[in-house]
Amino acid sequence: MSAQILDGKLLAAQLKTALTQEIKRLRESVQEAPRIFSIVVGNDPASLSYAASQQKTAQGVGIQYELRNFNAESTTQDDVLNLIGELNSYDHVHGIIVNKPLPAQMNFKAIINAITPYKDIEGMNLMNFGRLLMGEEGIFPCTPSAALELLKSSGVPLKGKHAIVIGRSEIVGKPVALLLLREDMTVTVCHSKTIDLPFVVHDADVVIAALGRPGFVKGEWIRQGAIVVDVGINQVEGKLVGDVDFASAVQKASHITPVPGGVGPVTAVMLMNNAVKAFKILNRI
Ligand code: NAD
Repeated sequence: MSAQILDGKLLAAQLKTALTQEIKRLRESVQEAPRIFSIVVGNDPASLSYAASQQKTAQGVGIQYELRNFNAESTTQDDVLNLIGELNSYDHVHGIIVNKPLPAQMNFKAIINAITPYKDIEGMNLMNFGRLLMGEEGIFPCTPSAALELLKSSGVPLKGKHAIVIGRSEIVGKPVALLLLREDMTVTVCHSKTIDLPFVVHDADVVIAALGRPGFVKGEWIRQGAIVVDVGINQVEGKLVGDVDFASAVQKASHITPVPGGVGPVTAVMLMNNAVKAFKILNRI
């Protein structure tokens, strides 16, 4: 039997429609729309193209977007920190994004942690991570939130079920595990030192693959009827592939996300969702 596809493009379109309506209502009630500010240091093509796609998604739902593209050679970490200090103090800026990569002389964590937690729409600073850990409200990272949205879109109850997260990075693995715990799932986190990964994965009702190795998770590891969310994005011979071997996994799973067209498109909308959350917090709505 072939799995049902959890279509990220479709879910992203539905979420964008809902966000557009919410932003329109907010604009009518407080005469203002969310405004976000994105920082790129240098001219890395992937970073600039990501910023362009942020702008398109933001403007598509009614969020104002501004970009500051610093010159990598003539910009210091203090220049970036000074800008963040200004943006933190402006009432009309509701979200701040710092795009990677930063030049080697800059410390990404120091820069991210300088953003006031209410404007940290990537959900990357320590305060928001702490809130996630402590089960409190906050602004949480976009890719893990997208993985959870896709999982929920299956309509399958999650409470008490066993989720296996493969990967323990700060960007994906750890926060996704914490989000699943908040859904009352039973969560196991696997990583590069896990012994007998196929055996562990076979116990999962839900598999979240975020290890950055193309086609690594095989269909035969997956229990019949499990849900598979593939966070991986890998370039192989000019094509994008996930961390799951889709052809074999689709035969075992009940639901599965494709790559491309799964977690990626939903992640972009989660950033805008966070901008709206930040706007509401800052306006006490
Ligand atoms: P990372 O390299 O920081 O972390 C990878 C994790 O996988 C590590 O914790 C490591 O221990 C684990 N791992 C590596 N090899 C393993 C193995 N053989 N067995 C078990 N665990 C293993 O990567 P990341 O930043 O967390 O990204 C993971 C994947 O998600 C990548 O493919 C990345 O491109 C993708 N990603 C996608 C999005 C999106 O929007 N869809 C966003 C961020 C990252």
